[in-house]
Amino acid sequence: MSVTGLPPYDDANIFARILRGEIPCKRIAEDEHALAFHDIAPQTPVHVLVIPKGRWVSAADFHAGAGDAAIAGFWRMVSAVAKGQGLEATGYRILSNMGQDGGQEVPHFHVHVFGGRRVGRMVP
Ligand code: 5GP
Repeated sequence: MSVTGLPPYDDANIFARILRGEIPCKRIAEDEHALAFHDIAPQTPVHVLVIPKGRWVSAADFHAGAGDAAIAGFWRMVSAVAKGQGLEATGYRILSNMGQDGGQEVPHFHVHVFGGRRVGRMVP
């Protein structure tokens, strides 16, 4: 079990399937470290998911050896996508759900980028 109470990485999860091209997505950006695409059920006018290509369930998997370049590349894409979606002027929220209490549905680490309207203080 990982720190967040989730089982080990499962290559059958839906984001792994998107990364392999088995399931389509509305792609925004992709490089060797990460993929960004529109959430299938957007909660805000801009709702983007950024997922690393590493087989990480949660941030608990950012252990030594996970690859500093991969982790940095992932976070660089998060801010680049926010900028590309025109969110820099008015701001945005990044959010990552982790494990059962965090409400994580897909067990492949990901960050939500919410923007395009004023969001609530704690949740979009
Ligand atoms: P979580 O609760 O794990 O943080 O969020 C998972 C997110 O993935 C949800 O916002 C959900 O709408 C989105 N999602 C689930 N399945 C798909 C899919 O097949 N395609 C896309 N684009 N988003 C998905």
